[in-house]
Amino acid sequence: MTNSAALIAEARTHLGGPPGPLRVGRDPVNLPMVHHWCQALDDQNQAYLDEEFAAETRGHLIAPPGMLQTWTMDAPRGAELMGSNDHVNRLLDEAGYTSVVAVNYEHEYVRELQHGERISVRSSAEDLSEEKKTGLGLGYFTTVKHEYLTDDGEVIGIGRMRLLKFKPPAAAPEVGARPTPAIGRDNQFFWDGVQAGELRIGSCNACQTLHHPPQPICRACGSTDMGHTVSTGKGVVYSHVTHHYPKLQGVELPHTVLLVELEEGVRLVSEWATAAKPETTYVGQQVQVSFTPVPGGELRPTFTAVS
Ligand SMILES: [Zn+2]
Repeated sequence: MTNSAALIAEARTHLGGPPGPLRVGRDPVNLPMVHHWCQALDDQNQAYLDEEFAAETRGHLIAPPGMLQTWTMDAPRGAELMGSNDHVNRLLDEAGYTSVVAVNYEHEYVRELQHGERISVRSSAEDLSEEKKTGLGLGYFTTVKHEYLTDDGEVIGIGRMRLLKFKPPAAAPEVGARPTPAIGRDNQFFWDGVQAGELRIGSCNACQTLHHPPQPICRACGSTDMGHTVSTGKGVVYSHVTHHYPKLQGVELPHTVLLVELEEGVRLVSEWATAAKPETTYVGQQVQVSFTPVPGGELRPTFTAVS
């Protein structure tokens, strides 16, 4: 038996074993938290929020059952490994399955919760699959049983969380070359313009509405009679994101992706002409188009900051 197989075999001996220490929720079931939840999910069940309605129908306000996990989310975690689930995780880590992703969480509700009740949780290892080949890598699905209890020790709900513990890939993959534009009948004018040093914007010959990216039909009037105009190339950074991963051949990371709003009113996705630090990019920054060759020599529309 390999070392890894021995560790997995040992992990199996912990299935159904004792739970870890009880973790006590910081705040009891309370109206402000219920309120936030209902607002976020647009849940208008009166039994959660309307004291009068709740008193008539339930005798008291109740909490949405789906909030089960939230009552103990901020409960402090002990540093010591004590429960069966902690042992399973430790052994999987030692066997090299160090990455983790949550798969699903199944709830079982025993009864409705009243405001003021304090909820605790304890976790134990319930199941461990055979080794599976997944899109993320080789791994094992584990099922952790969470028992939710009141201060009296009454179990009021059970959660079963399935996780995938998997071996991270040895090195970050490089995902091929920088994509080249797909040029067709509708956007030929745009790319011809770029090679000619012009930033062209599609415009409707019937109603003069501007469109970018180029498209065959006017969104405003439905006409298929499309022409183009040449932009001044002046605009502002409307938004930006920073690409850190995955690696892309010929692109220096981190790479700033710009959404530029041109003074003509349309927006286009672009980048800086030269590698610029993400922290120097800001919304509202004034920019001017420039045309920069990519490896291979083709030009791309890029932007430079206007000071
Ligand atoms: Zn039109």
